[in-house]
Amino acid sequence: MRGDEADLPIVSIVMPCYNEEEALPETVRQMTALLERLVREKKVSEQSKMLLVDDGSRDKTWSLIDSFHRSNRFVSGLKLSRNVGHQRALLAGLLTAKEYADCIISIDADLQDDITVIDQFIEKYKQGYEVVYGVRNKRTTDTMFKKFSAQFFYKLMIKLGVNVVYNHADYRMMSKKVVNKLEEYQEVNLFLRGIIPTIGFKSDSVYYDRLERTAGESKYPLKKMLIFAWEGITSFSVSPIRAVSVVGFFMSVMSLLFAFYVFVRHLQGNTVSGWSSLILSIWFIGGIQLLCIGLIGEYIGKIYIETKKRPKYFVETELHNVVVTEAKTQ
Ligand code: UDP
Ligand code: MG
Repeated sequence: MRGDEADLPIVSIVMPCYNEEEALPETVRQMTALLERLVREKKVSEQSKMLLVDDGSRDKTWSLIDSFHRSNRFVSGLKLSRNVGHQRALLAGLLTAKEYADCIISIDADLQDDITVIDQFIEKYKQGYEVVYGVRNKRTTDTMFKKFSAQFFYKLMIKLGVNVVYNHADYRMMSKKVVNKLEEYQEVNLFLRGIIPTIGFKSDSVYYDRLERTAGESKYPLKKMLIFAWEGITSFSVSPIRAVSVVGFFMSVMSLLFAFYVFVRHLQGNTVSGWSSLILSIWFIGGIQLLCIGLIGEYIGKIYIETKKRPKYFVETELHNVVVTEAKTQ
């Protein structure tokens, strides 16, 4: 028996939480039941935890996490010094969890992702998989707009050569080894969905249906979604800047041809006072130039931010109890 416990993987379920006071009680209830069952069935070590990362919430999220931690041995908590956004909060959680866990699962705090898939994640971990992606089957619960925009986003990313897994968000399992490799990525513009497939190692996908949010509202309004998509594209792909160069090249060729045409007309002596064509070209070329400058600026801005190497988050408090088992005290 003792030997068994030592062989079981320590699992950590990392959940970033931003103003999730409405959803948290139900989430913690379901996760606790799941972890209790997994421990009872001897699938995971009793040291396993859920790690709730408070991403600078302004509601009662942290005091809830604190009280859950006192009463529930499966709950550990991490409080960040301010709101740093989903991706960084998730990274903070992953890097904290890997200090004690072997198998790290990330999931949103609103339980939109089917938690019964966690059994499969653990099964795959035991089969030697280092990364397992949770992939959404259907999007029946999403609005038409969300469905359409998400499809468009994934298709565009894949077309632009960004290595993302289609219909996979941040619901996944990673081994300690992979999270250690993730730590070596120093970039400030974090887009984990794009980074993790570049790490490699034995990986697989499991499929599930996405459900409704248990409570509270989406913390990803349209504006944040668009910024996220733009980050994803410009952090991983130089295709847009290349497309601009191609457009610029064709424009230059076209204007050369046009200049030649104007010159011939001039020699023939029938030049009209070409105000309209002149003004049109000025506006057109001006527009293209602005577009190019803006795009180049975007990449330069990225370089600027990356060169600062600013810290991505600060941990204010960490709550973590170690359950002392017989096996571990031997
Ligand atoms: N979240 C976060 N920081 C933020 C915004 C969101 O930690 O600044 C968390 C949020 O609490 C949730 C997850 O990120 O656990 C995904 O957010 P949400 O469910 O609002 O996004 P959606 O599912 O609507 O895309
Ligand atoms: Mg959600």
